[in-house]
Amino acid sequence: MDVVCPIDPLTGSKEIGMEMFRLIERLYPICRSITGNGVRETLKILKDYIRLEVHEVPSGTQVFDWTVPKEWNISDAYLKNSKGKKVIDFKKSNLSVVSYSHPIKKLISLDELKKHLFTLPDHPEWIPYRTSYYQEDWGLCLSQKQFLELDEREYEVCIDSVLENGYLTYGEYYIQGKEKEEVLISCHICHPSLCNDNLSGIALATHLAQKLSSTTTRYSYRFLFIPGTIGAITWLAMNENRATLIKHGLVFTGVGDSGNITYKKSRRGNAEIDRAAAHVLQHSNRPHQIIQFFPYGYDERQYCSPGFNLPVGCFMRTPHGQYQEYHTSADNLGFIKIESLADSFISAWMIFQVLEGNKKYKNTNPKCEPQLGKRKLYDSVGGQSKRVIDQLAMLWVLNMSDGLHSLLDIAIIAELPFSSIRLAADSLLEKKLLSEF
Ligand code: ZN
Repeated sequence: MDVVCPIDPLTGSKEIGMEMFRLIERLYPICRSITGNGVRETLKILKDYIRLEVHEVPSGTQVFDWTVPKEWNISDAYLKNSKGKKVIDFKKSNLSVVSYSHPIKKLISLDELKKHLFTLPDHPEWIPYRTSYYQEDWGLCLSQKQFLELDEREYEVCIDSVLENGYLTYGEYYIQGKEKEEVLISCHICHPSLCNDNLSGIALATHLAQKLSSTTTRYSYRFLFIPGTIGAITWLAMNENRATLIKHGLVFTGVGDSGNITYKKSRRGNAEIDRAAAHVLQHSNRPHQIIQFFPYGYDERQYCSPGFNLPVGCFMRTPHGQYQEYHTSADNLGFIKIESLADSFISAWMIFQVLEGNKKYKNTNPKCEPQLGKRKLYDSVGGQSKRVIDQLAMLWVLNMSDGLHSLLDIAIIAELPFSSIRLAADSLLEKKLLSEF
């Protein structure tokens, strides 16, 4: 196997978690949406880590049943009382404005204003995150506490935004492997100051891309940093032919909270990526959950639409909507954990290792067992590693390598970690007891 784990899971994990956290801290203040300068600024920062390509798709471009929307940018927004005090201030929280709000500046009665205000009565200190992408409207978000303090008859509302023809911006990073077939990694980059939902996925994809680019890989890897829904639809519409090269894929989202890892299977349900992810999680000896595909959630919805039906699953921790902080100002830097980020990185990396190393072989001495002792395969030490080869793993590989079973099939049947099976196969290959099928 070409890919070597770039971190020592015991000593290096904290460091990778901290690196990811530092990137999230840099990206946190930026006001992102599905289009606009916030996305450009975000991609510019990612260029400090990986040499990604930035694509600009004009507003009005038809992408399957959808149209690339107008570009939205905002410089300021507030709600002022009669004394000129800003009771809502975009500069203090970019969640204060409903994303894609059209510009407005006027005096407004409290009754009229209330039709455009959003709060979370169950969490009186938190500000909700709201959007109005495909319906021109405006709105402000505030805490229930702030809302209850509004007692004047009239306020001045100002949203200094621009909604006009422009571009949808996305980033793409490609790593050429030995094979043309690709592993697709996709994450959304369209949420403003929200850490778990969007920034954790971006940090995971960026750091995996960075580590992968320093190794030689079997597969080619394509990383997409795209606005949710419309970005995936746009990429698929413009790359329909390329999509046929996607052999495996993962959507990354919500990988920083303290919950356990959740893997949502692809629509196919039994694709190699589904089996690889399940295998890695089962052998992690930590609680996790594996859930079936459903046509809601993140961009797996587009990759797994019936016309594509790509083997793309979703890798996350607590699923969206199952944590109270989801889509609120409480999804902040304090909500994500360095250990969770590191754990997500290591688990995703191990899934890649399974994909990279999963091949089919044929036993060259299939009539009865070969004599392992005379080849020094009993109690021997692996070629590249000092780990002792699992004897049972070797017997499983020899027995099941009939050209029909892949190493992952064998690991699953044998109930042994993939790494043991791979190590056994490497030793048998060295002694020419296996040949590539
Ligand atoms: Zn979201």
